[in-house]
Amino acid sequence: MRGMMMDRPLLISQIIEFAAVNFPDQEIVSRTTEGPIHRYTYPELAKRTRQLAKALETLGVKPEDRIGTIAWNTYRHLEIYYASSGMGAICHTMNPRLPADQLIYIVNHAKDRFIFVDLTFLPLLEKLHEHFPDVEGFVVMTDEANMPKTDLPRVHCYETLLKAQDGDYTWPEFDEHTASSMCYTSGTTGNPKGVLYSHRSNVLHALYVLSISGVPINEDSSILPVVPMFHVNAWGVPYFGLIAGAKLVFPGPKLDGPSLADLIEEEQVTDAWGVPTVWLGLLGHMRQQGKTFSSLKRTLIGGSAAPRAMITEFRDKYGVEAIQGWGMTEMSPLGTVSIPRPSMRGDWDNELEIRGKQGRLMFGVEMKIVDADGNTLPHDGESQGELLVRGNAVIDGYYENPEATAKAFSDDGWFRTGDVSTIDPDGYMEIVDRVKDVIKSGGEWISSIDLENEAVAHPEVAEAAVIGVKHAKWQERPLLIVVREQGSSVGKEDMLKFLEERVAKWWLPDDVVFVEELPHGATGKLQKAKLREQFKDYTLPTE
Ligand code: AMP
Repeated sequence: MRGMMMDRPLLISQIIEFAAVNFPDQEIVSRTTEGPIHRYTYPELAKRTRQLAKALETLGVKPEDRIGTIAWNTYRHLEIYYASSGMGAICHTMNPRLPADQLIYIVNHAKDRFIFVDLTFLPLLEKLHEHFPDVEGFVVMTDEANMPKTDLPRVHCYETLLKAQDGDYTWPEFDEHTASSMCYTSGTTGNPKGVLYSHRSNVLHALYVLSISGVPINEDSSILPVVPMFHVNAWGVPYFGLIAGAKLVFPGPKLDGPSLADLIEEEQVTDAWGVPTVWLGLLGHMRQQGKTFSSLKRTLIGGSAAPRAMITEFRDKYGVEAIQGWGMTEMSPLGTVSIPRPSMRGDWDNELEIRGKQGRLMFGVEMKIVDADGNTLPHDGESQGELLVRGNAVIDGYYENPEATAKAFSDDGWFRTGDVSTIDPDGYMEIVDRVKDVIKSGGEWISSIDLENEAVAHPEVAEAAVIGVKHAKWQERPLLIVVREQGSSVGKEDMLKFLEERVAKWWLPDDVVFVEELPHGATGKLQKAKLREQFKDYTLPTE
């Protein structure tokens, strides 16, 4: 028997209209690319978004057209999110730090019709635009007064487009499974792969995030998404933030420690979301200046593992709860968050063990770990296997990429994350490694991530990476690659001695090399593939 309830589509346009009516004086604050702080209210955002939707129509934008953005986190980027998706087009956010050949691939693969660009990235487009034959026009996200001279053809000024329109626009209604937005994700090899979100998946993901016990977001919250809006919809902040009626604080182009610290203080930020690298900069600045936070309650740390030392520093020095989250572009992105259950709190050492893991499931996501033959492994905290997930905000294929799609799913339809993990009896998942990065020594696995975490705990180590290097007897053995802290002369023997007390003997790296810097990808992640290439002919002293 079917339930007798209405079937109304879940649409992104509902979020903005709901927010404007219900939180009429809530603020959206942005540090702009032009410099000054900009602030306005939810209703003003909604009105300008409707104006932009009309402007897009005037430009000839139709449902399903891809609207590219190369932009920082600001109110104008938020307006593009809502206007393009709301009118039935697709908001395609792009990472400006990608290598040029990948950006060119993405624009052409997605068939972007227009590209919106921040002033900062105009020179980038001036260099690349000839490779975009299908792009009909470029919109510079500024006003007339700040509009620069540019060689870019078919250029429009954002504020001029908006000024020509009133806010009288009714959002169309359509099937909730309609595509709303897209984001390409870079693997270790090959071209980036397109993830195509739907209205339904984005709205559900927002509701799922708001249901996480221990991450209260509401009208009293002031959220700072440092995670870029070009990377998985800034982890959903633009959607769930508005549903909750929170104040949104956008950092614009200034992501350094001092700028973030000022913004947090001035806008009384309560919740800040971002990757570990950003918090390293912020904490370094706070330490140096001997400052404290007067409003910050929580940081959500994800994208790569949150070091335990960072979680502890946030708590001990600043009274801030650091919550680790794990997810993927393919998952919209959130999957798990690491918040100890009430019965697990009290003893900090215990708590830290749990907070150091990637966490418990968020409602709406399922996960399991499997061995190489696809057999499900027990949740005993010991068994390691590939992590598979499914849910309404998880992809069921890559955009126009049957080869990548074919490899990405198990026979029973679960998405293969490529992460190796354990799940303990309490349901807390811990990432051990990427499938491609785990070191296979004599048939046993060594976690490169665990070794790296132990190595960076050394006070004279700024950054560390561990890769597997060919070994005649053991197939692979770990090589530790270290970037020293400035002024340090820490050596191989010191490192090995330090690790000896912390890891199993057979995990000890066979060699340690010191480098000036490690390669990082466009989202700040270590590029292990590059390191493996660099050290592919390396001969270990144990050979
Ligand atoms: P992306 O799609 O670029 O956000 O990358 C997703 C990948 O980042 C995941 O598959 C993990 O390998 C890694 N990742 C994300 N969050 C975490 C975390 N909290 N700890 C460790 N790795 C993470």
